[in-house]
Parts: sequence; C-alpha cells; structure tokens
Amino acid sequence: MDRRAFIGSAAVSLALPGCVTTPRPATARGICLPPVNVAPERVIRTVAGLRPFRASGFVVRGEALGDKRLVHNYGHGGAGITLSWGSSKLATQIGLPGHKGPVAVIGAGVMGLTTARLVQEAGFPVTLYTEALTPHTTSNIAGGQISPFGHFSDGEVTPEWRAQFAAAMDYSWRRFQIMVGDDYGIRWLPTYQESANLGRWSDRFHTDARALAPAEHPFPVERIIRYSTMYVEVGRFLRELTRDVQIAGGRIEVRRFATPADIAALPERLVFNCTGLGARELFGDKELHPVRGQVAILLPQPEVRYAFAGQAGYMFPRADGILLGGTFEQDEWEAEPQQADIERIVASHKELFAGFRCTT
Ligand SMILES: Cc1cc2nc3c(=O)[nH]c(=O)nc-3n(C[C@H](O)[C@H](O)[C@H](O)COP(=O)(O)OP(=O)(O)OC[C@H]3O[C@@H](n4cnc5c(N)ncnc54)[C@H](O)[C@@H]3O)c2cc1C
Repeated sequence: MDRRAFIGSAAVSLALPGCVTTPRPATARGICLPPVNVAPERVIRTVAGLRPFRASGFVVRGEALGDKRLVHNYGHGGAGITLSWGSSKLATQIGLPGHKGPVAVIGAGVMGLTTARLVQEAGFPVTLYTEALTPHTTSNIAGGQISPFGHFSDGEVTPEWRAQFAAAMDYSWRRFQIMVGDDYGIRWLPTYQESANLGRWSDRFHTDARALAPAEHPFPVERIIRYSTMYVEVGRFLRELTRDVQIAGGRIEVRRFATPADIAALPERLVFNCTGLGARELFGDKELHPVRGQVAILLPQPEVRYAFAGQAGYMFPRADGILLGGTFEQDEWEAEPQQADIERIVASHKELFAGFRCTT
C-alpha cells in the first residue's frame, strides 16, 4: 500500500541502450547509476504531513445543503497528487451539469486547485475559500510520485467506488502527461522498486515495468522491478496552479469554515468541498483519519535522475532536493518530524547507497 522504495535510471538507460536489452555484470558501465550522497549533514530540511486516509476510499459525491448543491472531493490518502485531476474531474461532472452562475471551492490543496481550474475551464467564475494556501497545505508535503498507492483498503471498497477510482486514474494519467515540463515541475523518471514480482506493477500506470536481473542494476537488494512514471515537484506545481486560478479571474478568500452552516451561508449555489483531512471535523466523517508521513530532504543532486522505493524507504529526486521518506503512521495527528524517525530514514538510505555495486 505504501510508497516506500523506488529508483530508476531511464536517462542512463536511454543514453546506453545496450545496458537495458543485454544483461551484463554489475561492474559494466551500462547499469551504473550516480548514487545519492546520503549524510546527516546534507539534510537541508525535514517535514511531516498527514495523509487524509479512508479505508473505503476517497469521497466524490453530491448532496443538497439547504438550497445549495454540495459536491465532496476529499479523502485521497497517500495518492492525492496522483488522483487530483481525475477525482476533481469526477466532482465537476457531478456538480456542473445544469448549474448557472458563480461557484465556490473550499480548500486550496491539490484537490481545491485542480477543481477550481476545471470549473474555470468549463466557463464558470470561481471563488476559492480556504484556511491555508500553498505552501502551507498537506499537498505541499507530498513526494509527488504519480502512482495510486496508500489510499484505500482492499475489501473495504465497493465496485462502484472502484469504477470511480479507475475513471479518476484515467483522466489524471492523461492530464499530467500533457503538463510535463519545467513550468509545472513534472517529469518522467525510471523507478527502481524493490519487489518480489511484477504483479501490481504491471498495469498501464507503471510504464514499461520489468523485473531486472541482479546484473542489471546496482542496488544491494534481492529483487528489483523497474518502471517509469511521472514525478511532480509539488511546490512549483501548486504555485503555478494558484497563479492559473488567479489569471483566469478566480478570487481567493482566506477563511475557515467551522460548520456546514457556514458553507450554507455562502452566496454561491454550487460548492465543492476539497478540505482534505479538514472534512473530518467539518462534516463529521469519522472514517477519515491521518496517516503521517515524514520526509528528510537532502541537498539537490541534479545528476540523480531515477527514483527508488523499497525496504529502505523511498528516494525521489527533485530540483528542490532529494526526498527521503518512508513512514506510514496510522492515527498520528502531530504533523511534526520526529528526530528518531528522521535519523532512521537517513541511516537506511545511507546504507542502501553505500552498498551500490556500481556507480558512475
Ligand atoms: C509525506 C507524504 C508524502 C506523500 N506523497 C505522495 C505522492 O508521492 N503522491 C501522491 O499522489 N500523493 C502523496 N501524498 C498524499 C497527498 O499529499 C494528499 O493525498 C493530498 O495532498 C490531499 O490533497 P487535498 O487537497 O485533499 O488536501 P490538502 O492539501 O490538505 O488541502 C486541504 C485544503 O483545505 C483547507 N481546509 C481544510 N479544512 C478547512 C476548513 N474547515 N475551512 C476552510 N479551509 C479548510 C486547507 O487549508 C487546505 O487548503 C503524500 C502525503 C504525505 C503526507
């Protein structure tokens, strides 16, 4: 379920095509990757965030609130960046048909911003009401891997919800692809996933997935699957989306809603609830609970163009630093990094990269 280990070296593979198609000894140049330089003194910041998790999956549905139509769009656990465009698309498909006039969106994390943009793209004026703006949202803490993990429990979801999930993934997958580039901070990377078999990695969202022989990768672990997916530098992405909302005439009002009655008093007749974990208190959804994730960020290393996930945790390289993560802590409400956990995350990655069998 969680996103813990993964590395990839598409750039290296593309530059040296022989190393992909022809297994060679670990000392061969073709399979070598630049290692991440892990040391406590290279940590530039640490962060922790609370994933808005629901065992029965995210909520996208409409209901009446007085004379208003209220559409929920929250509870995406560890996959909110991944699902954002698609989940917000489903929400707008519920809310917009037949609607006339201005629209309210509550929340300015990734769900609120993508919802606001889709509403604007459909031609409606938007006001974004929110307690916190980027960079102060949970969405800003995310690693930014596009991969749908850690957001529901098998056996707790319905076939109808699975259909929503599939539709959301389909739209997100296509939407992120057409936004790849420096402006939104989105890029494809090969990912090295420590995993015993291809199984769940063989869907279309883990492109070109293949089990590697030990001689085809430098990692000191038993089994590696390599696939490609997109990575989002969330700070840049959310900043650009906020600008896009404003450029398209969107208004932003910073305020907190304590009860549904506060929402019922808004002038807009259509309201999207994109409050993430805030929906627990605001709408009394007790199934929604936090799953804390902690991250240590190292000095950037532009030469590292692969990601890793596995027993050691996960490593996602971004322009703003190398992210080392790996905790998935149920019902922890304190969004603060814990020194001992951070030390463990750094130590496990230090050991991983010290064990590289081959480096460039
Ligand atoms: C360490 C970590 C790593 C992660 N990595 C990934 C990853 O690699 N890929 C991935 O897809 N996902 C990842 N996630 C998950 C992702 O961050 C979340 O699923 C996503 O951010 C949820 O977005 P959201 O917009 O619903 O919530 P938020 O970002 O929390 O935004 C909620 C907004 O609602 C506002 N709000 C809340 N309550 C109220 C209220 N009462 N009144 C007014 N405004 C309110 C808030 O101020 C905020 O603006 C990660 C999460 C963590 C913590």
